[in-house]
Amino acid sequence: MFDFMDMSFDEPGEQTASEPYIPDAGECMRCGMCVSSCPTFRLFPIDEETPRRRIRTISKILVENLPISADERRHLDNCVQCRACESVCPSRMAYGQLFDQAQAGLKVTSGWLARLAFRLIENKDWLRRLMPLLAVYLKSGLQKPLRRSGLLKKLHLADAEALLGKPALQALAVSYPASVTTRGRVALFTGCIAEHFDRETLPAAIKLLNAIGYEVLVPPQQGCCGAIHQHNGQSAAGLIDDNIAVFNALDVDAVLHTATGCGAMLSEYQNDDDAGQLFRQRLCDINDFLLEFWPDDLQLTASELKVAVHEPCSQRNVLKNQQAVYALLQKIPGLSVVALADNPICCGAGGSYMLTHPDNAGQLRALKQQIIAATSADVVVSGNFGCGIFLSADGGRVEHPVQLLARQLPSCRTISKAFILSTSLTGCSIAVP
Ligand code: SF4
Ligand code: SF4
Repeated sequence: MFDFMDMSFDEPGEQTASEPYIPDAGECMRCGMCVSSCPTFRLFPIDEETPRRRIRTISKILVENLPISADERRHLDNCVQCRACESVCPSRMAYGQLFDQAQAGLKVTSGWLARLAFRLIENKDWLRRLMPLLAVYLKSGLQKPLRRSGLLKKLHLADAEALLGKPALQALAVSYPASVTTRGRVALFTGCIAEHFDRETLPAAIKLLNAIGYEVLVPPQQGCCGAIHQHNGQSAAGLIDDNIAVFNALDVDAVLHTATGCGAMLSEYQNDDDAGQLFRQRLCDINDFLLEFWPDDLQLTASELKVAVHEPCSQRNVLKNQQAVYALLQKIPGLSVVALADNPICCGAGGSYMLTHPDNAGQLRALKQQIIAATSADVVVSGNFGCGIFLSADGGRVEHPVQLLARQLPSCRTISKAFILSTSLTGCSIAVP
């Protein structure tokens, strides 16, 4: 079942009195409203692959402290963690939180490859040292014979290897000054691997922010948001605390994330002390920020492209800010924009799901690609780096919205002081000096 991240499970742990309130199975009305939104039910139309059955299993683990069967465990583990069920549930079952607690309760132990992957994404120095080797491997021509040899499959690395793109070797600069009159300063969250593998999105975000008058800081001490750890039953507490300390030390108006998967994790950090509150107060999705602070006098050049908008689950079901993408894209004259008809259904990427459950993930991607093909769009936009990599693995064109916007910036751009003073706030809870 598992490729790359093989896992085994111990018996459930005891729940302590200090843990947060967890709805029990009785609070799930078994109404079934969540069933059709569940991607695994789409693949396997049986009750065991529905959210309501998983809620029952989670209740056994967390509330009743009962052992679960191997089958229940398998069906629970098939969950993509898209949280579509949470969005439609009339009982407001906190599915994501419950799932994470159940994973922690099951004391998931990861295989050696998964542990190695966790250590790598936690340690940016190791990642930096690994990238030149990876670049040489991709350029050397070794890829084809190695794939044919079957060694990658034996090492459970085939699915991860298939997603590899050419890594950027040079680190981003620490600071990028505004290209027009400075309105303020923001920090960019780049997390762990995006700086190497998402090097189209990050420069585009910086270029746009500079063009609307913001200096951009990219603190090199920042690290992984911990989402992959949490979704695989590992503690993300140390990573969370480290990031809070790094960003809170900066004199910035906002901390911006470009990947909705990281943004969802960052926005749900359960640290309620002053440091945690300050961090969340300044946190904002790049799309929300650009929309909020887009200067009236900034006109983009026209484009005749047809764009299909993919709404990542982390954006729809956690951040719930997908409308900002459509509003931003309207700033490109002539652009034709359509929403994917099945946006409420996960594309299969699911954080590390594409690696832990490659078969299920591949089937979900194939369904999504049929919908994409039906739009005849020139390009798909997605606000989540993971979905973008996964959906473009077969050669399809998937970009972050900021890439499209940055390409349409006029070559020369100025803003007036009068506009700076008239800027208002509605979306992000950020105080501009
Ligand atoms: S929608 Fe909510 S209450 Fe209804 S069956 Fe699903 S989890 Fe239970
Ligand atoms: S999180 Fe997604 S995959 Fe998991 S039960 Fe809910 S809808 Fe299904």
